[in-house]
Amino acid sequence: YKRMVLASRPQGEVVPANFRLEEIPVPALKDGEVLIRNHFLSLDPYMRMRMEDVKSYAAPQAIGETMIGGTVGEIVESKNPKFATGDKVIGMLGWAEMGVSDGALLRKLDTRNLPLSAYLGAVGMPGVTAWYGLTQIIQPKEGETVVVSAASGAVGSVVGQLARQRGLRAVGIAGGAEKCAYVVNELGFDVCIDYKAGNLVADLAKATPNGIDGVFENVGGEIFDACLARMNPFGRIALCGMIAGYEGNPTPINNVSAFLKMRLTMRGFIVSEHMDLWPQALTELGTLVATGKLKFRESVAQGLEAAPDAFIGMLKGRNFGKQLVKLV
Ligand code: NDP
Repeated sequence: YKRMVLASRPQGEVVPANFRLEEIPVPALKDGEVLIRNHFLSLDPYMRMRMEDVKSYAAPQAIGETMIGGTVGEIVESKNPKFATGDKVIGMLGWAEMGVSDGALLRKLDTRNLPLSAYLGAVGMPGVTAWYGLTQIIQPKEGETVVVSAASGAVGSVVGQLARQRGLRAVGIAGGAEKCAYVVNELGFDVCIDYKAGNLVADLAKATPNGIDGVFENVGGEIFDACLARMNPFGRIALCGMIAGYEGNPTPINNVSAFLKMRLTMRGFIVSEHMDLWPQALTELGTLVATGKLKFRESVAQGLEAAPDAFIGMLKGRNFGKQLVKLV
């Protein structure tokens, strides 16, 4: 089967030459193992951080190994009594058409009410990220204003919809008129600011007449600074991502004095370190999606060969919704 390995670490922006497609034989299964055919790969911004050999929350991706990543697929052979051929599962098999697992990190999926791909998005890691940052860090009270950057994306789209359901004013920030129209008209945010239109500071002031109580930060840099300047006393910030700086260009935060003046609290978090809360979050998210109360959108690239370009595109904002690669 085919797999995509990390060929070299990026110098600045990721380029296709950082990846290499390989063909490897399907291994014979040992007792306790299962063979999985992946249907969808998840492409996520965190992979960009793992491509680099720097101090972070997790060890870097090894050169010459299959690119890491979440996957959903189907068991095609099983020597593990907990899994049968045909079971749909989510796992971390990486950028590959197939993979072998001992079952430890596999979870069976129910696809009667939810499409398989949703488990990589709104009813998966990105959805739980949104749920965690909003409910555990921002802890909003009804009537408050919450701002979320990268609002049309996998995480941001869920943040705003959950915020609206909790009686909050949800303000999105996204790149381009098309994404902003979707965020307001389809996702139901109160307003969405197109940061590429060039009036971020003035537009944010207009969109937040009562100031900002909570920020769900996905981007960093200028967008984050603009939010800091609008914070209300005792505002809370969930520092989820700083994608504007992932390609090596630092994203300085200038407005640090806002923390003192407004007595702000900011907490960074890594969603995979809060597994105890995943069942609660996934139950809420799964019910909302299955009943049509939580919408999501996907950008789907076809075939493993397309993964590098799709990944590079996501880092440049060319995705519109959760970025996936379809294999089957
Ligand atoms: P998205 O689906 O939102 O895709 C990334 C989006 O980021 C792009 O579409 C683009 O949207 C925006 N973007 C990219 N570059 C820039 C830039 N220079 N300036 C402004 N916006 C930019 O990805 P996810 O929803 O999967 O992830 C969103 C964030 O959440 C990321 O920062 C990610 O690292 C973080 N994250 C953190 C987790 C955690 O545990 N802490 C877990 C999961 C995700 P646009 O066109 O609108 O600019």
